[in-house]
Amino acid sequence: MRPAAAVAGLYEAGCRISGVSDPGYSCPRRAITVEGMELELLDWLREHVPPHPRAKLGLTDDAAVISLARRSDIVLTTDTVTDGVDFRVGTDDPRRIGRQALGVNLSDLAAMAAEPLAAVVSVALPRGGAGNREPLALAIALYEGILPLAAEFDVAIAGGDTNIFDGPLVVSVTALGQLTERGPLTRSGGRPGDWLLVTGALGGSLLGHMFDFTPRVREALLLHQRYELHAGIDISDGLALDASRLAAESGCGAVIVTEQVPISPDAYRLAEQQRAVDRHAAALRHALGDGQDFELLLAAAPDTAQAILRDQPLACPITHVGELVAAPGLWQQDSAGRRPLEPSGWLHQ
Ligand SMILES: [Mg+2]
Repeated sequence: MRPAAAVAGLYEAGCRISGVSDPGYSCPRRAITVEGMELELLDWLREHVPPHPRAKLGLTDDAAVISLARRSDIVLTTDTVTDGVDFRVGTDDPRRIGRQALGVNLSDLAAMAAEPLAAVVSVALPRGGAGNREPLALAIALYEGILPLAAEFDVAIAGGDTNIFDGPLVVSVTALGQLTERGPLTRSGGRPGDWLLVTGALGGSLLGHMFDFTPRVREALLLHQRYELHAGIDISDGLALDASRLAAESGCGAVIVTEQVPISPDAYRLAEQQRAVDRHAAALRHALGDGQDFELLLAAAPDTAQAILRDQPLACPITHVGELVAAPGLWQQDSAGRRPLEPSGWLHQ
């Protein structure tokens, strides 16, 4: 028997389920049950989610079984994206929203230098659908964004849950990863004098990168394998804020050399769209504070960092943007000297 909470959605059809009472619940416009939608979605998923040897039972049972190729610690992370906070369902393609929901979790696994293994996906769908899509079509579109990214990173989509409610679209993904023999990359291993390195370019993610980014999983694994990294974090909320977080966890402060920050073309584009008087200063502000870059910020001893910069072992550039210092706090440094930098960033609210 299914637990009451799981059948509560059957109210959608206007039927009463014993053991569950909610007299305030209004009858639906259409006689489509959540259960019916879930079954249709499950049919679609069974057809479209490729079998994965790691998820032994497929989507047939009450819970997923994941086999591990080797004994190692596992890494778990979860992230929720919500309409009106992380995206706007009326304007953003739900396929991109689905991709984003899995991508942010893979980015957190990358930050830990973990190999992604599997993910489960929970979706709360607005009762009336959204963006001209019925709830079922909306759920399928989300998965059409999730599945290609899962395939790219060999992530088994091992299960999930779907609900319909009187609220905005919410997609919550929980991802499972595995550590290599090098162990986890953490925020806390930085030391005063370490150089700060960043992958890719920053800022302007609002113009599309926030959806279409490729999580830096391969880059993190390669760097962690080949070099002695001290600390790492993914830049989800902005270089300034995430650098201050890494520094604080390492018991240090951080200096960002603003002239060295790699500013993305989208940061300049955004500055132009906003008719900024000082285009470069505005683009730099975007690079420091926009967030949703999903690049890696790493700390390593100066000689290690110099080797990485010399080797440039990644497909994307890796840049020296500053250093950790003994005194707590966050500073920016440029030709005018060193002064405090507000750890502003993109705060989820
Ligand atoms: Mg993170």
